[in-house]
Amino acid sequence: MITRFAPSLTGYLHLGHVLHMIYVWGIAHTKGAKVICRIEDHDQGRARPEYESAILDTIEWLGFTPDLGISVEQAEAASAYRQSDCAEHYTEVLNRLNQQGLIYGCECSRREIAETQSDRADELCYSGTCSEKDLPLEGNTVRFRIPSDEVIFQDLKLGECHQTPAEQCGDFSLRDRTGQWTYQFCCVCDDIRQNVDLVIRGEDILSSTGRQIQLFQLLECTIPQFYHHPLLYDKQGQKLSKRQHAESISQLREAGATPEEILGKAATLGGLTEDFGPINKNEALSLAI
Ligand code: GLU
Repeated sequence: MITRFAPSLTGYLHLGHVLHMIYVWGIAHTKGAKVICRIEDHDQGRARPEYESAILDTIEWLGFTPDLGISVEQAEAASAYRQSDCAEHYTEVLNRLNQQGLIYGCECSRREIAETQSDRADELCYSGTCSEKDLPLEGNTVRFRIPSDEVIFQDLKLGECHQTPAEQCGDFSLRDRTGQWTYQFCCVCDDIRQNVDLVIRGEDILSSTGRQIQLFQLLECTIPQFYHHPLLYDKQGQKLSKRQHAESISQLREAGATPEEILGKAATLGGLTEDFGPINKNEALSLAI
């Protein structure tokens, strides 16, 4: 089996990422799966290259070793695992979807879409205004014509999940009008090409899974298994605030924390253990089942 750790290059790693690493490497260990490290820098407007070396360094310092993909030693050679180096591949997949008539160009602005929404919606749902206009793909947002059906999948942690992407997000974007690829599209293209058959990620991304499954299906590719894990909570059971989240591992390290202390803190805040004491990596991995 193959799973992946896929940080975005939009910030430094924090305790939430450490909990995530415990789940990824812990479950991989139990299942005998290999772990890919993939750099998700698809959004060149937000990604900052200086984060990459800091992230790789933190992964290594905490004692996690990717089996494949990008690491401190393999930063240059493994460019197939860095999204900004893979535009050709995304273009190929986009062309395939185009031949199947599954995408279209859209000229609606975010503001125009927002005006058609009810205030209570969690995310913008595109109603398909441009779906029959036959607009060029270049210079417009490229949208995926999603099927209207409900998607049902068995999450390894949460059990049976039901999602209807057509009602959550509508025809979602694969590439924006400036040519930036989106998370949803790059993630599916990469999981297919890198033979990922086990996706382990936080519950905050659960709503993306149904729409990604529809892309896998229409590309006629095998759908991976999914495991969505709980996030970090404080002692009162509240999700950690952005402020606390923002404390990077590099800052904790500079303040003198050891990898064991950081693993213990992340495992405790993630509800995997009860006291805040230090734990070594193997102890941390054994907690993630
Ligand atoms: N790059 C995403 C993140 O850092 C991970 C997405 C995924 O695991 O599918 O949140």
